[in-house]
Amino acid sequence: MQKGKTFIISGPSGVGKSTVLKALLEKRPDLYFSVSATTRDPRPGEVDGVHYHFMDVDAFRQRIAEDAFLEYAEYVGNFYGTPKRYVDEAMNAGRDVILDIEIQGALQVCGKRPETVRIFISPPSWSELERRLTERGTDSPEKIQKRLLRAKVEFQTAHTYDYFVINDTVEDAVEELDAIMTAEHCKPAERMEIISGR
Ligand code: ADP
Ligand code: 5GP
Repeated sequence: MQKGKTFIISGPSGVGKSTVLKALLEKRPDLYFSVSATTRDPRPGEVDGVHYHFMDVDAFRQRIAEDAFLEYAEYVGNFYGTPKRYVDEAMNAGRDVILDIEIQGALQVCGKRPETVRIFISPPSWSELERRLTERGTDSPEKIQKRLLRAKVEFQTAHTYDYFVINDTVEDAVEELDAIMTAEHCKPAERMEIISGR
């Protein structure tokens, strides 16, 4: 059986990554969303084990010591990390995996696994990003400013990604992500069994 591929989606907080991924998972039910560990507090509606594995700093450090993370990083005062085991299990079962991670983590994964496909997701404008962060209503004005500052740094790395998707409408962004995944599976390297069998 062919192994699944890993896709990274990075982009500023509030751009709509979770929203777009939820819709993408409905379109591609076999896609495995990697549930990260984090030390930040759950937002209203977030469920432990579904949106994140919420834990305190000691538990997070314990997992670092056990080498349980494919990557981890600090982001605006909290730790976030990708549990290695579930990603590998899904890929070995032939499922594509999607990681919603920020830029430092993306760099770590690509250092270890250069075949990973990286997608940057952008808002249509800065004012729209600020509007979405404010409208979400989950962060204090101070946190929103920190996230917007961080977004400027993130944008400077966007050109290093394999793809750049603009989340203007959710439907269009999902369509582009879906197309990228399909195209990545049409590469000759993915189809060597057929090529060598002819
Ligand atoms: P992220 O996961 O990137 O931090 P969210 O998915 O939480 O972002 O989205 C932030 C806010 O923007 C939410 O209130 C969401 O409903 C809204 N949103 C997401 N995508 C769009 C879009 N294409 N148009 C308008 N609002 C959007
Ligand atoms: P939020 O607090 O808004 O859910 O996420 C903040 C940032 O952390 C986002 O850019 C998100 O992509 C990133 N993030 C979420 N999980 C991980 C992870 O496991 N590793 C890394 N490096 N970043 C993550």
